[in-house]
Amino acid sequence: MAVPKRRTSKAKRDQRRANWKLAVPGIIACPRCGEFIMPHRVCKACGYYKGKEVIAKAE
Ligand SMILES: [Zn+2]
Repeated sequence: MAVPKRRTSKAKRDQRRANWKLAVPGIIACPRCGEFIMPHRVCKACGYYKGKEVIAKAE
């Protein structure tokens, strides 16, 4: 089994832990209405996906 030769310094350990992002990727703005939506899903606000209306809206 591979074993680390040296203990990771506090600086290196903290650099690694400082690298996580607060915002989770998985929220984008709808290109049509600007509403925040999840990628690869139909926009709930305007019913559009890939430039086409896929959910008919009540007028
Ligand atoms: Zn939209």
